[in-house]
Amino acid sequence: MNFESVNIEESISDTSIARKVIKSLKNVEIKNNILKKTHHTRGKNHLTLTSKRGSVMDLCASINKEYICCAAHVLHTVSNCPYSCTYCFLQNYLNNNSLSVIADTKSIIKEVKDKINSQPWRFFRTGTWELGDSLATEPYTQQAKELITAFSRLPNVLLDLRTKSSLVDTLLKLSHNNRTVLSWSLNPQIVISKEEKKTASLQNRLNAITKAFKAGYLISLHFDPVIYYSNWETDYAHLIKQIFETVPVEKITWISIGSLRFNPEMKKKIESNYPESKITTEEMVIGNDNKMRYIKPVRIKMYKQLIKNIKKYSANEKIMIHLCMERWDMWDKIFGSHPKSTAHLDYQFAESLYNRFPILRLEKPDLKKYLQNKYS
Ligand code: SF4
Repeated sequence: MNFESVNIEESISDTSIARKVIKSLKNVEIKNNILKKTHHTRGKNHLTLTSKRGSVMDLCASINKEYICCAAHVLHTVSNCPYSCTYCFLQNYLNNNSLSVIADTKSIIKEVKDKINSQPWRFFRTGTWELGDSLATEPYTQQAKELITAFSRLPNVLLDLRTKSSLVDTLLKLSHNNRTVLSWSLNPQIVISKEEKKTASLQNRLNAITKAFKAGYLISLHFDPVIYYSNWETDYAHLIKQIFETVPVEKITWISIGSLRFNPEMKKKIESNYPESKITTEEMVIGNDNKMRYIKPVRIKMYKQLIKNIKKYSANEKIMIHLCMERWDMWDKIFGSHPKSTAHLDYQFAESLYNRFPILRLEKPDLKKYLQNKYS
C-alpha cells in the first residue's frame, strides 16, 4: 500500500496506534492536520488518524422496517478503504473521503462497555466493517490487535472483523478468548479479479482462513454481494466446495447471503468510476428501500442454489444462515419461514451461538427479554 500522506490529529499523536503508524510508514510525509474533503478514490491514498468524536457504536445502517435485519452493531472505527470494489457503497456515502482510523482505542472500548453493560442479558455482535475493511490497514495501525485484546475481557459481545484481505499474521498469537470472529467476504476469483480490485485473491483469503481457525478463531462467511453472470452457478458451487475443503464446519459461526444492491445515484457513480464494470447492466428492480436488486426469480434461484451447496457440506452442523437486506417474503421463499422481527433474529443468533459454542460460556438467552427490547 502506498500512502501519499499520513495525517495525525495532534490530540492522539501519543497513542500506540499513532506510534506504530509513524514507525511503519517512515518514508511517508507525516502531517498534523486533517485532510480536507477529497475525491473518494484519491482519499484512499491518504491515511488519517483521528480521535473519537461522538458515538461510534450503532446498529448496522441497513436496518429498515420493511426488511429483516440481523441486529448486528457496527463500530465506526475505520472510514474508507484502500481497496476498490466496483460495488462499494462508500463511493456514494462518505462525506470526508480520506481513509481514517480512530487511534483512541480506550475511548472506543469505554463506549462498548457502557452499551453492553446496559443490556447484560443480550449477546451483542459488533464489527468494524461497515465503513471500511476491518483489516486492510492492520499492518500499519494494529487497531484490530488492540480491539481483539480489549474484547477478550468483555462478557457479552463478539467482535466481528470482516475483511477481503489476507492480513491476519499479526493476530495469530493473541489471547482472543473466543471473543473475536474473523470473517471473510467471498466471491469466485473471476468476480474478485473484475470487481474487487486490490483485494486478496481467493486463494490468499482461503490461506488466511486456515491460519485464523488454526489460531483458534471462530470464522464467519459472507456471500455478499452475490453477483449474477453467465457462469455463476458453476463458479459459486466450486467456491463453496473450496471453502468447506478449507475450514471445518464446526468453526463457522454464521453465514450471510445477500445480492448486489445499490441505489440509483450509486449506479451512476459506479458507471462513472468503473466504466469497464458490467455489474449495473443486469435487469434490476427498485425495492422499498430505494435500492436496485436483481429481479426476484434471479435472487431466489441464486440464494436457493447457494444454500443447497452449503448444506451439502454442512448437513450435520446447524450453521446459522441468514439473508442480508431482504424482506420477510424472500425469507419465506428461501427458508419456508421468517423470524418475527429483528429482535427475534437477534435472539436466534444468540441461541445458535449458545447451542453450538459452549466455549463462549454464554448464559442461555431469554426470548422474552429479546422480544421486549426496543432495538438500539
Ligand atoms: S473491501 Fe469493502 S469497504 Fe473496501 S472497497 Fe471493497 S466493499 Fe468497499
